[in-house]
Amino acid sequence: MKEFSYRTREADIDGLDGRAFDVLIIGGGIIGAGIANTLAEAGISVILVDKGDFAGATSSGSSKMIHGGLRYLAQGRINLTRHLLRERNYLESHVDLVKAKNFDILIGDGLWSRLEIITGLFIYRLLGGGAHSRYIRNEGKYPDNVKGYYTFKDCVTDDALLTVYNIVSAHERGAECLNYMRFNGYETKADGIHASLQDMVSRKTCTVKANVLVNCAGSWSRDILEFPVETRNRMKLSKGIHLILPREVYPEENAVVLKSPIDGRQLFLIPRGEVVIAGTTDVFTDEPNDFEVTDRDRHYVLESIKRFAPMASEGKIIGEYAGIRTLYGDSNEPGRMSRDFKLIGGKNTLTVIGGKVTDYRRVSRKASAEICRMLSRKARLSGRPSIPYSRAGGDLISGIVNYECPLSVEDIVRRRTGAFFFSPDSGKSLIRQLDSDLENKLGVMRNNGFFSGQQNR
Ligand SMILES: Cc1cc2nc3c(=O)[nH]c(=O)nc-3n(C[C@H](O)[C@H](O)[C@H](O)COP(=O)(O)OP(=O)(O)OC[C@H]3O[C@@H](n4cnc5c(N)ncnc54)[C@H](O)[C@@H]3O)c2cc1C
Repeated sequence: MKEFSYRTREADIDGLDGRAFDVLIIGGGIIGAGIANTLAEAGISVILVDKGDFAGATSSGSSKMIHGGLRYLAQGRINLTRHLLRERNYLESHVDLVKAKNFDILIGDGLWSRLEIITGLFIYRLLGGGAHSRYIRNEGKYPDNVKGYYTFKDCVTDDALLTVYNIVSAHERGAECLNYMRFNGYETKADGIHASLQDMVSRKTCTVKANVLVNCAGSWSRDILEFPVETRNRMKLSKGIHLILPREVYPEENAVVLKSPIDGRQLFLIPRGEVVIAGTTDVFTDEPNDFEVTDRDRHYVLESIKRFAPMASEGKIIGEYAGIRTLYGDSNEPGRMSRDFKLIGGKNTLTVIGGKVTDYRRVSRKASAEICRMLSRKARLSGRPSIPYSRAGGDLISGIVNYECPLSVEDIVRRRTGAFFFSPDSGKSLIRQLDSDLENKLGVMRNNGFFSGQQNR
């Protein structure tokens, strides 16, 4: 395994100025990570940069489901659901980070009708396979307005870790992957794109050359390149938040799909080990940095889940987080906009809008094929981009520090161990454990004070 740490990062940055690559990818969320991994596997020279940590934005802020989306089926988006289910099945059987989870979908007053769900689950099974779901009468498991429920299987993951594993795999295959490295702009010259990058640790800038620039900057992608007005107007952002609550508020094993009594939207309560994740919202925003959870968001989720988790209250919230969807289309309602991805080509540039975590391999393959076309390269793209990286035994934190390039305690707690999301104390006990020895290992970032408490937003 190749070292990938703050040490290699520093050495790589030292020799970066003036280097030339086939492809520069802006954004180390799941989409940029997947594309870097696919291209690197095909032998194309790639540099990927993220202005914060890898997976520091929406790719650690999702509902963490790997699913076909029954809701998309109800909207008639059969093709999208088919693709998502195919990806779900592949990931479940090939990627350890993706695990099956049972979901109960509820029938009753203010919820769904039996006919709706029978039809939906029949098509879902037709498209994605799996066991037949049986109707189970509610005998006290759920509140009285629930007449019964169907249990079906989807999957869950750690979105941030899936992203980091793709990055490490890309790095292992020769891609240059740099976190805390901001793209500040570019010029097109006779020999290609000259991009200006800034190391957010030292604040030094440098220039790299690339033949193709790939914009995977998520909620910031509208600001990376210039777009025609009609295109830009269709690039919309929608924020979604989640609350992390202790398992005592919802002690069941199965996740539950419910309808909010406030506006009839679909929400989830998803048990994950010692916590339960409740969400989400879907509200247009114009601000790419809008990762704040407001009182209104919190109140909406708590009111929506109250009947199923009566003990849930503001005082019980362990943690909360937000993500921003990038959507493409004309609808005035975020819930009606397609969750499928869109590729927007320019002169030597490619922008990826959307792309679910579930769908990242399909997005990566399609985007990579387009990039190879732009490079006039006949690369063999793997139909099944793989994640060769897995953690070796031994001390977990040393392994993370040496092979997954965290630069701060927050990088470890949020995006390498998931302790912030999945532990009942938001990772505080892990932080206490880390403090004594990590300072020496990661001295590079502690010394400059830049990262203390920093959030990649
Ligand atoms: C609330 C919510 C719930 C969701 N739930 C699910 C789910 O359960 N299952 C599922 O499959 N999908 C889900 N999704 C969708 C999925 O999370 C996103 O589509 C996906 O994470 C987007 O990844 P990305 O790489 O495009 O963007 P991001 O993860 O946002 O990555 C973009 C990156 O670009 C970087 N960047 C921006 N500007 C610059 C710059 N100038 N220089 C360098 N770097 C830059 C940012 O720092 C950021 O890390 C959900 C989305 C939301 C919002």
